Amino acid sequence: MQVRFYHRDEVDAMNVMEGAILPLLAVTGGWPFVLTCGVAVLAGDILRRNNTVKCVFNVSQWLLASSLASLVLHALPVSLSPSPAAAGALVLTVLVMSAVNITALTGALALAAGTRSASKGPAVMGHVVGIAASLTLGVCLTAAYRWTPWSLSIGFLLILAMHFTGRSYAAVRADRVRLEGLQRATHALAASLEPMDAIPVFLAEARIGFEVRDVQLVLFGERGTTVHTCSAPRDGEEAAAYSVVLAPHVLAEALADTLYEPAHLSVAGDSSAIAHELAAIGHQRAIAAPLRSGGDTMGMLLLLDHVGMEGFEAGELPIAAALSRELVGFLQRVELLQAVDDERRKLADILESTSDGILTIAADGTITSWNAGLAAATGYTAEEMVGTRHFGLLRPRDSASRDVLIEHWVDQINSASGLPLELQVVSSAGQTVWLSCSYSRIPAGEDRDDVLVVVARNITQARELERLKDDFVAVVSHELRTPLVPIKGWAQTLLNRGDRLSDDQRRTAVQSILAQAQKLESLVLNILEASRIEAGRADGDGIADVGAIVLRIVEDSLASRPDRVVRLRPPAVPCSVRGSSVWVERAVSNLLANAIKYSPDDEPVDVAISISGEDVLVSVTDRGPGIAEDAQERIFERFERLEETRKQTGTGLGLYITRRLARAMGGDVSVSSVPGAGSTFVMRVPLAPVTSGTGSASGSEMPEQRSKLRPVNVVNLR
Ligand code: ADP
Repeated sequence: MQVRFYHRDEVDAMNVMEGAILPLLAVTGGWPFVLTCGVAVLAGDILRRNNTVKCVFNVSQWLLASSLASLVLHALPVSLSPSPAAAGALVLTVLVMSAVNITALTGALALAAGTRSASKGPAVMGHVVGIAASLTLGVCLTAAYRWTPWSLSIGFLLILAMHFTGRSYAAVRADRVRLEGLQRATHALAASLEPMDAIPVFLAEARIGFEVRDVQLVLFGERGTTVHTCSAPRDGEEAAAYSVVLAPHVLAEALADTLYEPAHLSVAGDSSAIAHELAAIGHQRAIAAPLRSGGDTMGMLLLLDHVGMEGFEAGELPIAAALSRELVGFLQRVELLQAVDDERRKLADILESTSDGILTIAADGTITSWNAGLAAATGYTAEEMVGTRHFGLLRPRDSASRDVLIEHWVDQINSASGLPLELQVVSSAGQTVWLSCSYSRIPAGEDRDDVLVVVARNITQARELERLKDDFVAVVSHELRTPLVPIKGWAQTLLNRGDRLSDDQRRTAVQSILAQAQKLESLVLNILEASRIEAGRADGDGIADVGAIVLRIVEDSLASRPDRVVRLRPPAVPCSVRGSSVWVERAVSNLLANAIKYSPDDEPVDVAISISGEDVLVSVTDRGPGIAEDAQERIFERFERLEETRKQTGTGLGLYITRRLARAMGGDVSVSSVPGAGSTFVMRVPLAPVTSGTGSASGSEMPEQRSKLRPVNVVNLR
């Protein structure tokens, strides 16, 4: 029978056995008393299934206490007849027994606890209360026995009643502690969706609630078995230890196949494989609760080795079952959240990595999302735009240049004209960007209004190309017709009154027809070459003699433009390149035609061929208007024509083709120019490896031979 002393959260239990056995001491004393005490304590320990060490300790402690008490009582020279001296003697013996018991108990506890310092306050108070209760009980029982012996039975009935009341109270208290702990455990699962936060708290609370030494949560997953363990605080530690490992768990895996409801496991008296595995992990008793979901076992909750003094019998399996259901619910919530999170991340990745611009606008015009594609197209970042109604910053207009108020999409989406499919906006750098847009409206949900999703593709380049192509078609049709007018005119004149014309007039007529025919030919060849290049059908096999080709081009140009001066500096040695003669001819023709076309008639054009390292360089220099630096790369693009030279006819294909051909031969074309002073275009093509007969491959004379025909390097047919 115990006296419990509560102080705040701590409780100390004192039994009043010293008082209960006092009548026996008073009556018998000596060895019968000592023996009775020893046998009674041993019987009690066996009934309570205490372990051997504890039994030996308890029996020894009581043998010592009862022997000393017996010695003290018999050493005192007082009779036990009712008298103050007798009462004093009884009090002294109770105190002796209590002192022995308290010393033995606190000494054993101090040894077991090592450095752990228990709070002294409640312990001392508990001892005082315990001793007082023992004294009162002992003196009263002895007095009652002296007064009339049979009244002792009433006293013992009282003790029994108190014992059972105490047991019931202890059981109720244990249940309450357990339920509170379990409530906290379930709360831990409800309060968090992060397993690494919730599971340690859950296990710690379950351990306290079930008053067990260890709790293990074993989860079977695709990547293996995860074991979360919460163990009782070790020596010198305040808090329970938590650990998680990815490792097989033989006991839990064996139980998973056979156990569908929570069950008690015990090593004692069980020779099954399960009991063997329980012993193998160092435990004697356990409650195993499977985590079942849809006919599958997803894990196991193991409550290992009960350490409480009482309770923990009735109702523990249903509570373990409830806890395992909570765990299953928690794990399913976590899994669901993870799936939602994965899905959300996947969508966010798609949204961010797509090159198309995607934005969403709420019904009130607030921009709610703005992806990286849109940031790249417009130069405005998501941080600048999301949460604002600043779409107007982009000055959106439709293809007829009318302002568009996307923020008011709710009114416009159902109007006759709807929202424009092509939007022109102004980027943060001030450039016009064309967007091809598609719109979809997401109807209002429970917690939000309608949302407009706009998918916008940057079509600026495509639109620009389209515009250039339109220009090109207009220019080409004009260019093809223009030379035909003088050709037809001159041919008509020669036919009708050729015999009446002077020699000079006829020469002028034929030269004009030739010049226009060359222009036409060049135009047609450029268009054909451009389409061959675009179709990837250009064929550059062979060896081209650059000196001979350039000389022929210069001569042909001068034949049609005898009014111009073209100065040619041929190479010092024959130079050939690997590639088609037609390519070299086309490329150089284009450069020379431009130089003649864009420079004043009275300015000469210089053409020079030289060797630099492993390359042949053909440079064409004019004294024309020159090309601004920022346009020097642009002019090599398809259909690109500069505004300042628009009065000259052209298609914008010549330089594009020239560069493509030069690159196809392993070289390139570049320009250096001083606006107002003229330009120099240089084509660089690697030399062909020297082989016998290379120099006359084209069958034409060497440039030197030609230049011998004309003693200076100036070809002037004026
Ligand atoms: P096209 O001459 O038919 O217009 P090109 O591709 O040969 O086409 O030239 C592209 C543009 O580059 C020309 O329209 C002109 O504006 C500029 N350009 C080319 N050569 C010269 C030059 N020698 N001097 C000044 N501008 C030039």
